[in-house]
Amino acid sequence: MAQERFEFRSETKELLQLMAKSLYSSKDVFLRELVSNASDALDRRRFEAVTDPSKLSADETLEIRIHADKDAKTLTIEDNGDGMTRDDMIANLGTIAHSGTKAFVEKLKSAENADQANSLIGQFGVGFYSAFIVSDDVTVTSRRVGQDKAYTFRSSGDGSYTIEDAQKDSCGTTIVLKLRPEDLEDQLSDFTDAYVIKNTIKKYSDFVQYPVMVECETQHHREGVEEAEGHDASTCHDPTHMVTEKVWEQANSMKAIWLKKADEVTDEEYNEFYKNITFDWSDPMFRLNLKAEGTVEYRGLVFIPARAPYDMNYRDAKFGLRLHAQHVLIMEKCAELLPDYLRFVKGVIDSSDLSLNISREILQKDRSISTIRKHIVKKVLDLLDDAAQNDKDKYNTFWEQYSRYIKEGAASDYDNKDRLLKLMRFVTSTTVAEDEKSESKKSSTTSFADYIARMPSDQDAIYAIAGESLEVVRNSPHLEAFQQKGYEVLYLTDPYDEILFSQIPEVQGKKITFIGRGEVELGSEEEKKEKREKLESQKKDFDALLQKLQSSLSNDVESVRLSTRLTTSPACLVGRDGDVSPHLQRLLSKMGNGNGLPESKRILEINPNHPLLEKLQSRFAANADDAIIPKYAQLLYGQSLLAEGSPLPDPVEYTKLVTELMVETL
Ligand code: ADP
Repeated sequence: MAQERFEFRSETKELLQLMAKSLYSSKDVFLRELVSNASDALDRRRFEAVTDPSKLSADETLEIRIHADKDAKTLTIEDNGDGMTRDDMIANLGTIAHSGTKAFVEKLKSAENADQANSLIGQFGVGFYSAFIVSDDVTVTSRRVGQDKAYTFRSSGDGSYTIEDAQKDSCGTTIVLKLRPEDLEDQLSDFTDAYVIKNTIKKYSDFVQYPVMVECETQHHREGVEEAEGHDASTCHDPTHMVTEKVWEQANSMKAIWLKKADEVTDEEYNEFYKNITFDWSDPMFRLNLKAEGTVEYRGLVFIPARAPYDMNYRDAKFGLRLHAQHVLIMEKCAELLPDYLRFVKGVIDSSDLSLNISREILQKDRSISTIRKHIVKKVLDLLDDAAQNDKDKYNTFWEQYSRYIKEGAASDYDNKDRLLKLMRFVTSTTVAEDEKSESKKSSTTSFADYIARMPSDQDAIYAIAGESLEVVRNSPHLEAFQQKGYEVLYLTDPYDEILFSQIPEVQGKKITFIGRGEVELGSEEEKKEKREKLESQKKDFDALLQKLQSSLSNDVESVRLSTRLTTSPACLVGRDGDVSPHLQRLLSKMGNGNGLPESKRILEINPNHPLLEKLQSRFAANADDAIIPKYAQLLYGQSLLAEGSPLPDPVEYTKLVTELMVETL
């Protein structure tokens, strides 16, 4: 086959340029990426050989070899893994598989520093392209296991690549990077120096489960010189007596860190391992050693990243733990080991009860897997529970990053619902007031348990208000009666909260009550009775006015009624029981999900004790056809919309009305 030339896809080109730029200060990651690819290729070959032993003879050692040529300025990384065919090369090296490449390129552009860029690159898996950080002449020669033909892929990373036939004696992949002369001037980035190579392997790839062999030079004294001159070879410094020899040295220790006892491993080693498997650049927030003996035996090491991975909500992103069976990696991301909502958990599980050739389909039904999964969930929740009790600051950071996933879990994991509810934290009227008093810049939160413990004896429900932002909810007129009674109200500004509590209507036997919906009756039985009687008599007085207001607003509200929740504001809008808040309604229709929901009209509540309503009532009593009444109806409606953070349907009309009345009163 003659040489064929191909173009990279346009995103690939952009990505290559960006990557070279953003990773300029930490070039050495390219070696981590290429070694990790080689290790994956060895995994795949070993895995294929489980079902087809002809693919790996008993005397062949799976390993990675790295050697440099100082004169030619090249670095070679070689593996005897599964190798690639010509088509594999086009599919794997010529295109970036992810459909989200564009999104990724955007993220990379906005990365603030090399660390962020690094961790993005790792999470995204564009590993191979990192070769172009140090080279603009990359050749990949590969032969697929079980096949005779080999091919060479070659690119300078400038937009195109070529593929041609090649000779290769055995299966696997050899990557040759022609290094840039200017990089070699700096001792630290001279990747033709075995010392630099070995250090980089130690730093990033120490736990790789295959030997990473680096070609090194050693010097020793020439034999025969001793006898001839009778001098001591061990102290001789004569350069003419020395010979240089090439030897292979293993650069990684290959230790399976998860099999070791926790006290035999340092925090640094654990963190390094975490970074190795996640390509995260920061230390993890939590670490957990897992060990189970009994029905199913397994060991594991799991982590919670310091920040929620950026792709948590991408539809095609893959999550899961690395799964080893009898210490052999059988799956990079085993999703079956975690419920969906814990998809941010990273780590490795190693079980001696699983067979090496377990398939995806079997995994889903496998009893041991579901036992392990239950155990992992329990241990992760234990860990979080413990942090929530004993390390509040750390737990708060966790909550900031992962609240959404814990809520998702409470709605989906029935068995652990109560444990997950216990982990939830909310900003409330009380925490906001306390933060203000102590002039703390942080927003404190409370748990349901603490909220319930603070409830006055005559309060029988958990009260909540949902809205767009803290500013909007905390100034909402709906709060007035609750504030007066000293009842604490949860401020729910995550739109997901409303959905969650429509599925979980009760916590610890207390109903979650949204204060912007339905009718409100607060206080002891006696107080309620008293208020009811007062309301009945006011209803008689206001009945005709209410009807008048209602007919003026018939297009806007379902009804107009007297309020029991207002103390200082003249009016507010409320929903019926079971309605969603106007904020959520707007969000849902923006996302195109609101169509199923009926456009429900709301109820305008007016405060009969407010001077405005008293005066309006006397105007109305004097002249039921007074033209000012319908105008006031519009104003009250507009004010109520503004107070809850909703837009006015017709701001121009509203402003005109206000101006008109301003003129009149002057
Ligand atoms: P990722 O490793 O995240 O899939 P890469 O860009 O690093 O992304 O590699 C793309 C693909 O190229 C790999 O998934 C693999 O199929 C193939 N590949 C890369 N390096 C090797 C190798 N040394 N041996 C065999 N296949 C390889």
